Amino acid sequence: MNFVSTRGGAPVAASFALQAGIAPDGGLYVPTSIPALDLASLPREPVALAAAVLAPWFADDALAPSLPALCAAALDLPAPVVPLADGRTSLLELFHGPTAAFKDFGARFLAAAMPSDADRPATLLVATSGDTGGAVAAAFWQKPRINVYVLYPDGRVSPRQAHQLACWGANVQTFAVDGDFDACQALVKAAFTDPALRAKHRFTSANSINIGRLLPQITYYARASLAVFDATGDKARFVIPTGNLGNAVACLFGRAMGLPIAEIVLATNANRTLPDWLATGTVTDRATIPTLANAMDVSRPSNLERLLHPFPGHDLIADLQAFSIDDDTITSTIRSSQARYGAIVCPHTAAGLAARERLDDRPWIVAATAHAAKFDTVVEPLIDQRVPVPPGLAELLARPARVTKLAPTLSALAAALT
Ligand SMILES: *Cc1c(COP(=O)(O)O)cnc(C)c1O
Repeated sequence: MNFVSTRGGAPVAASFALQAGIAPDGGLYVPTSIPALDLASLPREPVALAAAVLAPWFADDALAPSLPALCAAALDLPAPVVPLADGRTSLLELFHGPTAAFKDFGARFLAAAMPSDADRPATLLVATSGDTGGAVAAAFWQKPRINVYVLYPDGRVSPRQAHQLACWGANVQTFAVDGDFDACQALVKAAFTDPALRAKHRFTSANSINIGRLLPQITYYARASLAVFDATGDKARFVIPTGNLGNAVACLFGRAMGLPIAEIVLATNANRTLPDWLATGTVTDRATIPTLANAMDVSRPSNLERLLHPFPGHDLIADLQAFSIDDDTITSTIRSSQARYGAIVCPHTAAGLAARERLDDRPWIVAATAHAAKFDTVVEPLIDQRVPVPPGLAELLARPARVTKLAPTLSALAAALT
């Protein structure tokens, strides 16, 4: 299996795309074709299933022989489908990893797959809207010969997220950027394409643009959809809270591979680029609106470039729907979620549940992208009770944190990269 940049150029191997992150021309790596799965032969045990789902993407690649070990090391996390009290909605709980958000799956796989014995140490730049940075820091912490720089929008992440981004030390440095997430993302892109910086650093990325993060996310949709299919004979329907579209593109790729997935619905917050694009066919540039679901505060989803890319034989977005959920609705959904669903949810998951409420009575699975305890300052006042902190998160919150402020300019970033 080969990958090409969305902007053209020669095909590269999967492990090359995984190490490079972004293509040299600024494009995103996409597969030259989408491999097909044979459902009957797929194992159901989660780690074996993950390896089987990823195998065709890494066919003929240097990483192919180590896939089972990588999946065992990185993807052996619980991802239960939990039925809710309304009797027609389930949560796909993706928050049982070390940093309590779905980003742990992709970050852990990428860290396990990235070689650390190269001639030059790698410089890993990661822009985060809140959860990616923590997951990447946790996954790469103390990994030899990789220096990790985490950039997050100052004041736009929850206090617990901020702590989780900055509690590492060793090979991880954390910067609070004076700007929004798009500014952080633009800085990383600018560094990657700057000839002087490229000469000095062997850059790699760990954002959701990296196929090493994207592809492993297919595996929990495989787990969930096969569980539904085996139990009921029906294809699964997913609602996915969406920012940069990484999680959603994984699900769309999984469906295109032949996983038993019917409709896929996106839930955005007030940043409504995607619903407007699906309605009008045009992508309009807008400023990012800060919302309660801050990990989805994205006005220009980077993975959109992958959805706009043609895949012969597949129309990834044929029946895709998207709903924009405003903060008032997120708030009311968090408030009512315990009575209505028997669940306490984070603001992103609440956006997913609110989108689900606009759909029909058939069963829908909402991706629960983070644990509510990461967003205690939002959730607790609304439900008027404490959210129990999972032990892994409590451990991180007990560590000291250290962060440096950064101006949103390439020269400031260049000076900060040691
Ligand atoms: C990152 C994140 C999202 C958005 O995921 P994308 O892959 O960027 O679309 C949603 N919810 C939470 C909690 C997140 O951390």
